[in-house]
Amino acid sequence: SSLQTAFQSNRPHSAAFFEKAKQTMSGGVNGNLRYFAPFPIIFEKAKGATLHDVDGHAYVDYLLSYGALMLGHNHPEIMAAVQRVWDEQGTSSFGATHPLELDMAEELVALFPSFDQIRFTNSGLEATLFALRLALAATGRTHVAKFEGHYHGAHDHVLQSVNPEVGAAGAATAPLPVPESLGTPDYYREHSVILPFNDWDACERILTEKAAQIAAVIMEPMLSGYIAAEPQFMKNLRDLTKQLGIILIFDEVKTGFRIEVGGAQTYYDVEPDLTALGKVVGGGFPIGIVGGKRSIMELASPLRSHKKSEVVFHSGTFNGNPLSIATGLATIRYLKQPGNFDQIVQRTLELRTGIDELAKEYGLPLQTLGTGTIFNVLTTQEDVHHYRDLGANHNQLRLALDYLLMENGVYSKPLNRFSMSAAHGPEEIKATLDAFDKSMAALKK
Ligand code: PLP
Repeated sequence: SSLQTAFQSNRPHSAAFFEKAKQTMSGGVNGNLRYFAPFPIIFEKAKGATLHDVDGHAYVDYLLSYGALMLGHNHPEIMAAVQRVWDEQGTSSFGATHPLELDMAEELVALFPSFDQIRFTNSGLEATLFALRLALAATGRTHVAKFEGHYHGAHDHVLQSVNPEVGAAGAATAPLPVPESLGTPDYYREHSVILPFNDWDACERILTEKAAQIAAVIMEPMLSGYIAAEPQFMKNLRDLTKQLGIILIFDEVKTGFRIEVGGAQTYYDVEPDLTALGKVVGGGFPIGIVGGKRSIMELASPLRSHKKSEVVFHSGTFNGNPLSIATGLATIRYLKQPGNFDQIVQRTLELRTGIDELAKEYGLPLQTLGTGTIFNVLTTQEDVHHYRDLGANHNQLRLALDYLLMENGVYSKPLNRFSMSAAHGPEEIKATLDAFDKSMAALKK
């Protein structure tokens, strides 16, 4: 389209770089979601809320490393945490326990009501993988239940029905597992149960029918971080899984520290059995965490038994690496200071209100949807409750808006949600609303 042509001609350096990158990196990217047409923007530096690309353009950043950078880029307290580690121990990674790990474990156990114990991993993927292994071990059952449209990282068991073509995915009230990827063994599809989000009658029926096989229900408390589980749905799910002996896993990789400091579980006042964290909790460095009930977490304890058949195995060379822990701790401590988190929420609301008002002014069928510090801009005015309601969002209008926003200095990556940070102040919000204003004006033409 003409928007993509403009995008391309304004970015000769990104274009040339991408041509080269395609030769030595598969698809020119290190993650399939990083690609968009005609080529992804190549960034070279960032500060606060601002990204700079290789063609000299600046953008207010709403991708924020997929939501990980809650304090923005190069926040002074994160830089200071890195400096302290650097001064005291250089680049050491011990592959062994060190004092900061305990500080962080104690902070997390204090913040998340459902945590008795935790383990560190290097990514959200590893956290959901390990949580599921614990659940399978704890129950002796074989199946994993997940919700249609929910993402839990790039591993086989949860790469079912992440973003399925609705036509191939069965009835809305009885969705079928659809592999997201080539190369995932059939075993995982055959041992998956797919649930429809926010449809309690259907969930109750499916879970009750298959309870004897289901080890765990894993869910994003908010689909993609912005479509909330209805509170009654959440309470029902907690009660029924408890009753059926199914382990409830909250994947709070997106929502932890973004919906509330204590995660969506604090917001809903519902305690899952296990939780996966990632992104924000690493302060911009790689991390994942599994936390939960002592009775389940202790299954991984090497103190339980010297027999491998009696212990859940978990390991990772860089688990708990000092830099991730130090920047994670700095982030938690920043967000715990009174007012800091609330201010980011307040500014998110200001921005959303501005976008919603502009949409009304221009008579465009757009609305923002979200909670806390995450939202998305949807091209529908209907209520959105589950994955299938999003069908209308993946359309030309939103795509056109995204390319126009990039030309006007706002970046969230096409079709992606928006995350806010401590670095998004009044100036950035004003610049963003100006960009929305210009982009919507162009859409009306
Ligand atoms: N779970 C959720 C809800 C996520 O949003 C993500 C990442 O986008 C993951 C798991 C995977 O985390 P990572 O990308 O660190 O492996």
